[in-house]
Amino acid sequence: MAKCELCELREYTQRYAQFVHPFKFTILDCDSCDTPMVVLGEHRANATDQERSIMIEALSVIARAKYGEDKFVIDGVMRQIPDHCHIHARPIIRWQG
Ligand SMILES: [Zn+2]
Ligand SMILES: [Zn+2]
Repeated sequence: MAKCELCELREYTQRYAQFVHPFKFTILDCDSCDTPMVVLGEHRANATDQERSIMIEALSVIARAKYGEDKFVIDGVMRQIPDHCHIHARPIIRWQG
């Protein structure tokens, strides 16, 4: 069975939530971006639409608490590990004034 660093999910970043039902996924800070991300509990590239919407919903709760309403974007692009589904919530940086 294929393994990657998203399967292992090392313990040194902030963890927010670990879901087991209706399927397994974890929300934690990405150690390279330092932003919250949701990681599917299985090693596969694509989540179903239903899985994706549940993960985004849960990630948005965390991101709203951390950054504020409408202060983040959901980023589903998998740059570093394209074969294990994960989604980032990235803060929107606005110029002040
Ligand atoms: Zn994996
Ligand atoms: Zn990242």
